[in-house]
Amino acid sequence: MKNPILSSIITFLIALLFMPSFLFGQACQTSHKRTARIAQHPEILEDMNQINHFTEEWISAQQMTAQVRELVTVPVVVHVVWLENDENISEAQIMSQIDVLNEDFRKLNANFSTTPAAFQAIAADVEIEFCLASIDPNGNPTNGITRTQTNIQEIGETESFYDSSAGGHDPWDNTQYINIWVCNQEEGSLGFATPPGTAFPEESDGVVIPSVYFGTIGTAANSVPNHLGRTATHEMGHYFNLEHIWGPGDGGCNEDDFIADTPSQEFESGGCPNFPFTDGCTPNGNGINFQNYLDYSDDDCMTMFTEGQKMRMLAALNGPRASLLTSNGCNAMVATNDLNNFENSVRIFPNPTNQLITITIENTYASQNLNWELFDMVGKKYLEFSMTEKKELNLSNLPEGVYYLSCLNFSKSVKKIVITK
Ligand SMILES: [Zn+2]
Repeated sequence: MKNPILSSIITFLIALLFMPSFLFGQACQTSHKRTARIAQHPEILEDMNQINHFTEEWISAQQMTAQVRELVTVPVVVHVVWLENDENISEAQIMSQIDVLNEDFRKLNANFSTTPAAFQAIAADVEIEFCLASIDPNGNPTNGITRTQTNIQEIGETESFYDSSAGGHDPWDNTQYINIWVCNQEEGSLGFATPPGTAFPEESDGVVIPSVYFGTIGTAANSVPNHLGRTATHEMGHYFNLEHIWGPGDGGCNEDDFIADTPSQEFESGGCPNFPFTDGCTPNGNGINFQNYLDYSDDDCMTMFTEGQKMRMLAALNGPRASLLTSNGCNAMVATNDLNNFENSVRIFPNPTNQLITITIENTYASQNLNWELFDMVGKKYLEFSMTEKKELNLSNLPEGVYYLSCLNFSKSVKKIVITK
């Protein structure tokens, strides 16, 4: 190169091309904030090691048994902590975010069809759904949204967002609800989440996202390329213990995301590369999975979780996050103590039976349209039906054994039925 100045400019520009994109654009703060918490509270590492050990054991146990899994719904509360009026986002904008979470986690996202066939083959329906809480921690009806005006700038960066006495909003019981704080953060932050075992203090456990990246309408609509609600999909992945697809740190081929089916990846992606896109870690074949929600590609470029990521998330939901499975937060019926009254109003006879059973509903519940499912002991579903007041079922074609009759209107209501021959 004849011109040394031009040469160094070109060298600089080439170097820029290979620098991590978070230095220029918006970035998720989960890994950096976790690293900072570990530096202050090294005991977090012990919890993380235990959880990772459990995760490996749980996944290998699942692979040994052909267990029938079922869809689970987990309750979410959204705490809107706003400084400027436009940060006090509408209920419709919040609902648009819940819709995106449900589409992405159930593989119902409209852009899934753009996923290359090679990656469609490993893409997962995670079988987790999200509902805005309908019952608050006191057992009262709620729309699952709290609203707090604050005078603290960039409250998402402070210890205040999870503290009502300091200008934020206290979490609802972190073991029963996924707390999402929608609040102001520093320029460049797309938000963050606390992977299981890493929140310090535990009240901060949850997800934090700026209002302009939350949902797909209202103030989120202009946040291209982060305008389709996939920041929350990405952060919810972290909440359920997923690492970035390139690994827990800043990159390189020695890092891994602990997921077998995601291709090794050197750094985060940006924009929307053309398929196949290869890098130094995966130089051939289908290249890297830049369509993955745990990458940094544009929202309209992200389309999938993998089956391996699904298993890691389900391990979290059956381990450190298992308390969400028995939460009453999503119950459609008002008042959790209704459950006992309801169960007392259900009569099943004869039980044990060898053929016919009659289900009778008494009292105020008799007039309600109730939806039921019948499972065996390993969770295999045999029947689903609706009824009011009285129904007769013929179970003569079912094998002998113990079954569970679950009323979907009361998510925790289960009745045992024994079939003898
Ligand atoms: Zn992230």
